[in-house]
Amino acid sequence: MKPYDLIVIGGGPAGIFAAGHAAQNGARVVLLEKKKRCGAKLLITGKGRCNITNSEPDPRRFAAWFGPNGRALLTALYAFGAPEVIEFFDQRGLSLTVERGGRVFPTRGDAKDVQRVLERFLSDTGVEVRCGSEVQRLLWDGESVSGVQTSAGELFGSAVLVATGGLSYPGTGCTGDGYNWARELGHTVVEPKPALTSITLAESWTDEVSELNLKNVELRALQDGRVLESRFGEAFFTQDGIGGPIVLDLSNRVREALGRGKVALQLDFKPAVERQLFDKRLQRELAEHANKDFGNALGNLLPKAMIPLFIRLSGIEPGKKCHSVTREERQRLLGLFKELPLQVQTCGGFDKAIVTSGGIDLKEVDMRTLRSKKIANLYFAGEVLDLDGPTGGFNLQVCWSTGYLAGVSATPAANRVATSGQLS
Ligand SMILES: Cc1cc2nc3c(=O)[nH]c(=O)nc-3n(C[C@H](O)[C@H](O)[C@H](O)COP(=O)(O)OP(=O)(O)OC[C@H]3O[C@@H](n4cnc5c(N)ncnc54)[C@H](O)[C@@H]3O)c2cc1C
Repeated sequence: MKPYDLIVIGGGPAGIFAAGHAAQNGARVVLLEKKKRCGAKLLITGKGRCNITNSEPDPRRFAAWFGPNGRALLTALYAFGAPEVIEFFDQRGLSLTVERGGRVFPTRGDAKDVQRVLERFLSDTGVEVRCGSEVQRLLWDGESVSGVQTSAGELFGSAVLVATGGLSYPGTGCTGDGYNWARELGHTVVEPKPALTSITLAESWTDEVSELNLKNVELRALQDGRVLESRFGEAFFTQDGIGGPIVLDLSNRVREALGRGKVALQLDFKPAVERQLFDKRLQRELAEHANKDFGNALGNLLPKAMIPLFIRLSGIEPGKKCHSVTREERQRLLGLFKELPLQVQTCGGFDKAIVTSGGIDLKEVDMRTLRSKKIANLYFAGEVLDLDGPTGGFNLQVCWSTGYLAGVSATPAANRVATSGQLS
């Protein structure tokens, strides 16, 4: 049987994009996915709504969100950036909506629609999709990767593209296989670590208020009394800690700081109002309710579900009349609004991590083509690479951009041009 032009391993967003675009460029492509269906992880993205990208149109500003490694992403972003992704889905009938912070979601709010568009893309471009097909190892002929060993036998191809994702949410099929194969072939793998996770707190009360979504709050991470980083936006308490977009984005810094010592958090419920001004607001509120019980005076300042907790933490007797609340008590209350103290225990592990930081060292990959610098017919795309960004659609964009560029670079047509010296 004629070998494939390209074998793509991993049916996540990166693998699907690579396979479909390679096939569109004329390559004979097989996509191998160990789960029963492609895009298992996509279905849980964005709480089932799939934040497919971020509307930031400028590749340089987009890349800046990825820290020092972001520069390496530039060629891929220029080749297929956020505007192209939006156009890709739009042309296939998926209506999109831009939300706060440039987050782009399907308007219907259902990640299944994204999965369906991608599956149709694969069938329209003629990719041979083999689900339930687990790759066990890459076949090495002494010079190049000649194919793969799967649960159902060997397959041979001119090029192999690894898009097996990271280690987060292993139930979705991500068990780090790509890292192991790359190491065996001499690649360096920057230590994979869980990234963008919820945070476990020492406070025992978080479960009591876990139904609440806290909007427009500020969360600060502190070590030895010094603010390390702060974020503004949405958060929520969980059974044993705190989660939500701003927590995920702070978690990488918190995890790193935990290696040096204790880390505390401070939650500011009223970040738009300066401490002194908010103290005046508290005084007004207490004066207006002067003859009421303190326990009934916080309705204008807090969501209902939060009030019993605040009363308890303030240490102020709920039956006390507001006019009798002392200055010291009011200061304690003010502290709860402006800097509610939280003690970090741990950051979540891979089972709770939105992405994996670390991965295939970018120095050993030609980021203009996503081809290995060590093995001429081996390509990488997606989360398996050492690239991770914040929440907001940035991580899926890595998959679309690198998947596209790897896919088109790995086609025989692109390689003919490259070897005839027309491509650098
Ligand atoms: C809960 C959650 C929510 C998220 N929400 C968002 C969001 O809203 N926006 C955003 O930008 N990012 C989000 N992310 C991150 C995003 O989902 C990932 O960055 C992205 O899925 C990575 O894509 P990938 O194609 O590289 O790998 P994956 O999506 O992980 O796909 C890899 C595929 O490879 C397959 N595979 C692995 N090993 C083998 C093997 N040996 N043989 C065959 N197949 C194999 C796996 O089964 C899997 O299907 C979220 C992640 C999680 C966990």
